[in-house]
Amino acid sequence: MNILVTNDDGVFAPGLWALARELAQVGRVMVVAPDRGQSGVGTAVSLYRGLRVNKVFSLIEDVDAYAVPGTPADCVILGLGSLSEEPVDLVVSGINEGANLGNDVLISGTVGAAFQGFFRGLPSIAISVAAFEDIDFVPAAKTAALLARQVAEHALPNHVLLNVNVPNLPLEQIAGVAITRLAHRNYMDLVETHHDALGRRYYSIVRGKPDWHVARNTDIWAIRKGMISITPLHSDLVHRPSRCALEGWCAAIHQGLLAQGS
Ligand code: MN
Repeated sequence: MNILVTNDDGVFAPGLWALARELAQVGRVMVVAPDRGQSGVGTAVSLYRGLRVNKVFSLIEDVDAYAVPGTPADCVILGLGSLSEEPVDLVVSGINEGANLGNDVLISGTVGAAFQGFFRGLPSIAISVAAFEDIDFVPAAKTAALLARQVAEHALPNHVLLNVNVPNLPLEQIAGVAITRLAHRNYMDLVETHHDALGRRYYSIVRGKPDWHVARNTDIWAIRKGMISITPLHSDLVHRPSRCALEGWCAAIHQGLLAQGS
């Protein structure tokens, strides 16, 4: 099994290497990761500029590693499209420092990278640890390896991407594994206004205080219970009931356009 490993925290992040080391027990691993932190860039792709890829020193025997001056999605596209000489069977992105739960799957570079594998029809896994400090990557790395073995033996039941969040707990304290749906977050990112030394105004966007609507069987519910959360994702964002509800707008818009024509 050929496994492409990437992340959004950059090629030197410890979570990436903990993941690669464990997955190297399951298959042949190649690391292709951003040359710097790329958290929050989602599925962004670097168009219209050259990407000079550097082979970097690998911490693991028989694992080649490349640094890309681009996004996590770029890494997967390059890895699958050029750097890997053999077909890739599995894409794994992580281990991210910090959870990727609820709406965050739409801005996460970790999940964004996995989406590029998903878009190309490959089994793809994004994996994160729900902590920013004193992180133990071992439980998440071992979880990824066990999932990779499941994929190798059974394939994924549907064409989905697995978004995995692991509580920052010792192995023996992990309460279980739950298949979940996305929780809803009750806050938006905040804008902070600052002034520089010349009095010019600038802004920063900061994460709001986490305030969760915790329904049963959601990803945040599982993490709060000390369980590993596995959310099967796909890319169909269409809300079907609204299609009917909005149908009546179409004629009005079309007629409005026609009425303004000469
Ligand atoms: Mn990150």
